[in-house]
Amino acid sequence: AKEAGRNTFRFFNQKIHDDSVARMEMERQLRGALERGELEVHFQPLVSARDGQLVGAEALLRWTHPVLGRVPPDRFIPVAEQSDLIVSIGSWVLDEACAQAARWRKARNGAFIIAVNVSPRQFSSPGLVDTIRACVDKYAIPHGQLEIEVTEGLLIRNPGEVRDAMLALEAIGVTVALDDFGTGYSSLSYLRAFPFHTIKIDRSFIRDLSDDAEDCALVVAAIRMARALGLKVVAEGVETEMQSRFLTRQESDVLQGYLFGPPIAAKDFFVDWVQNRPG
Ligand code: C2E
Ligand code: CA
Ligand code: CA
Ligand code: CA
Repeated sequence: AKEAGRNTFRFFNQKIHDDSVARMEMERQLRGALERGELEVHFQPLVSARDGQLVGAEALLRWTHPVLGRVPPDRFIPVAEQSDLIVSIGSWVLDEACAQAARWRKARNGAFIIAVNVSPRQFSSPGLVDTIRACVDKYAIPHGQLEIEVTEGLLIRNPGEVRDAMLALEAIGVTVALDDFGTGYSSLSYLRAFPFHTIKIDRSFIRDLSDDAEDCALVVAAIRMARALGLKVVAEGVETEMQSRFLTRQESDVLQGYLFGPPIAAKDFFVDWVQNRPG
């Protein structure tokens, strides 16, 4: 038994070692990725639940490494988040997304909401509000057309500072969405304590809508509650007509998912969604 314990320990250590080596190597690769032009922002359509019309897009970061190929954001964002890299990469994503949105607003001669993910470390970094304000000025973003998506994890550490930052954003017409709603622990109290504008119901709830009565009940309750609090509701991960109909009937505001379109490069988004489709 002693021997087995030692082996388990050694194995465990080895695994931690491998993980941290892999992590460090990824961080090293990621450090030069921006300069080498390996990063790209993709855009996924956001459509009105009422009539299916395009209302905007979520910006989603993509990394194509020359050797590793496509590295999924779920793998490299946490690495960037654990170093200072998320701040520089995040600023770049924000600028890139807002620049495209400004072009598309012009082409459509109408509104276009651009949603940008901001991770906890980036949100808490000094100058975040200044960076966003500069972007709003640079691209003359109309009120309510830039939405920052944050997750519940942000709200735990420095609630006072986060709340102040959210109020400062609200003052310049930038809205904040609570992403992955329903996956955390106490989203309810957070919704009261912070000036959110939108909740994004996590796609795990949407996925099981067809065959899971409890998930249906949860989604219905989440939408009702958001309504009562005056919040906008976005449902993400919509893949089927049935889900879409259900969410529309329950009065979600905005739908997002493969049913409407996957995240695609800016030039494709322009052709598929902006050109010849006035808003
Ligand atoms: P998220 O913010 O929850 O983004 C939605 C994810 O759901 C995206 O994955 C999107 O491609 C995927 N998705 C959209 N529609 C469907 C659908 O119908 N079915 C399914 N199965 N999936 C769908 P993606 O692009 O791989 O991004 C993963 C996560 O990485 C994001 O989750 C977000 O947390 C993070 N991320 C991506 N870009 C950025 C960024 O620029 N900054 C930060 N901080 N995080 C980012
Ligand atoms: Ca998001
Ligand atoms: Ca999400
Ligand atoms: Ca997520």
